[in-house]
Amino acid sequence: MTVDVVKADDLKKSAPVFGQLSFDDHEQVVFCNDKDTGLKAIIGIHNTVLGPALGGTRMWNYENEWDALNDVLRLSRGMTFKSAITGLNLGGGKAVILGDAKTQKTPALMRRFGEFVHSLSGKYITAEDVGMETSDMDLVREVTPFVTGISEDRGGAGNPSPITAYGVFMGMKAAAYYKFGNDHLEGKKILVQGIGHVGEALVEHLTHEGAEIYISDINEERLNFVSSRYGAKIFEGADVYNADVDIYAPCALGATVNDEALERLKAKVIAGAANNQLADELKHGTELRNKGIVYAPDFLINAGGIINVYAELEGYDKKEICRKTENIYNTTLEIFKKADSADISTHAAALQIAKQRIEDRKKLQ
Ligand code: NAD
Repeated sequence: MTVDVVKADDLKKSAPVFGQLSFDDHEQVVFCNDKDTGLKAIIGIHNTVLGPALGGTRMWNYENEWDALNDVLRLSRGMTFKSAITGLNLGGGKAVILGDAKTQKTPALMRRFGEFVHSLSGKYITAEDVGMETSDMDLVREVTPFVTGISEDRGGAGNPSPITAYGVFMGMKAAAYYKFGNDHLEGKKILVQGIGHVGEALVEHLTHEGAEIYISDINEERLNFVSSRYGAKIFEGADVYNADVDIYAPCALGATVNDEALERLKAKVIAGAANNQLADELKHGTELRNKGIVYAPDFLINAGGIINVYAELEGYDKKEICRKTENIYNTTLEIFKKADSADISTHAAALQIAKQRIEDRKKLQ
């Protein structure tokens, strides 16, 4: 057993929550349990300096509870910086429900989850994430007003995924401009990993742009559907990192930019929707920079969804949502320039700006 493992095990025993690396100064963590519906959920509230903690709910069949806790803490922290860098008056939070969304999600479970959200009196506002649909948010809305992403016929902004994909597309174009000197993606080989709600909408933008698209997913049905709909090629190799592409767009789950990936990655640009793409944000952010791979920070370019749900709270229209989302292009370029002039990773540059906004607001309070 290495020293690191011993330390990690000790930490888990002596400081299982506050001592987690991903805990990173969370304000509050709420464990929700309901025997009748089988609900087991964790709500992470990372920071509320800029406003209520808004972030989606993910339902996932985690291997164990540690993975679920770690995931919610990492995602919740990411939301703080996403809203901060996007200029929204929102804090960061997130929720995970432990279980299989296909077989264990019931209306009663979703309503019970909504009651837990309600018990926080608006400090946390939920929305959809992986494993959730707009109809699930409608169920949560039956028991609490502290939910966004409800359907348009109920006064909501609807599914945020198309806007998220549009923002990712903008960030990808900015990254292409920075790396290749041209933001047109025609003829560029692009691998989209994960073709769910966001991935498919991204494929649609890339199709219009004339890119050569490769798709990968663990769901074969989705692969066949998206391939036949847009003419995208199904990536056949066993190793997505080794794919001979210009751009890698991670749109499934996080931590796919890790040690293993960095050894083999051929893409020159990484720009995708998945949250927490860097397994270790310090180490892998720096390694990407050293390898000359342009990385568009995930929490910056996937902010379209939060912009969309924020519109529900602030009452602004589609035009304003699109304007704010399009601006991701400019912000991404600013981050690249800042990273170059300070000789730091693009992730670190984006984080600095987000943290500064929170510190500035604190001084006013
Ligand atoms: P989704 O559940 O609709 O799609 C995820 C897809 O990834 C599914 O098709 C799934 O089969 C696939 N997948 C899972 N594991 C995979 C693997 N190992 N390899 C390849 N494919 C795999 O989710 P979504 O709403 O499209 O979100 C995708 C990512 O973007 C998530 O990380 C989410 O947190 C992030 N995100 C989404 C939004 C949004 O508006 N939906 C906003 C910001 C960030």
